[in-house]
Amino acid sequence: MEASILQPELAAKIADLYSRMEKAYDLVARQLDFTCDGCPDNCCDSYFLHHTHVEWAYLWVGLMELAPERRKGIETRAAEYVAASERALARNERPQRMCPLNEEGRCGLYLHRLMICRMHGVPSSLTFPNGKVQKFPGCFRCQEIVGDRPAVPMVERAPLFRELVALEQELLGVQQGQLPKVNKTIAEMILAGPPRL
Ligand code: SF4
Ligand code: SF4
Repeated sequence: MEASILQPELAAKIADLYSRMEKAYDLVARQLDFTCDGCPDNCCDSYFLHHTHVEWAYLWVGLMELAPERRKGIETRAAEYVAASERALARNERPQRMCPLNEEGRCGLYLHRLMICRMHGVPSSLTFPNGKVQKFPGCFRCQEIVGDRPAVPMVERAPLFRELVALEQELLGVQQGQLPKVNKTIAEMILAGPPRL
């Protein structure tokens, strides 16, 4: 096994998928006249786990483009994040600490941020093959904007998820099902280095 950063063709495919996620998000945000401007909160301190090697690898494509000293700073903050999260989890608390990629309130690796980061904010839905629909109401500020509107625009996540899963399959190939499942925070993905495939 060796450390793997994505092949350029696969990196281009995930960049394209990410840009379409952004478009789907922006469409709903425009319909709701919603932006993050002036938000008193910064949801980059929310604790999320991420589950694909392909997103992990693409994150590392972005990290490797940074100057070494900037990456070093991110790695230091990632180590602090992981230690603080482990302490919180040991107390049975949900960790809340700023993502190590957030620099001065903004995402320092914006083009490489993961799907969960891209979906957070506006309302969205996930339609399962059996027709069941899970709804996500959006962040607290967006919920205030939506109020009790009878019809709410939403990003439908299912086709975007399906494409992400297809890219994961393309990356893993015959190794699919043989590798341990990814269940990592962004900080853990940074500390671990690129996925070893
Ligand atoms: S990757 Fe970027 S957008 Fe996602 S939590 Fe970290 S700083 Fe925020
Ligand atoms: S997504 Fe919502 S909570 Fe997060 S920064 Fe934007 S407005 Fe604030």
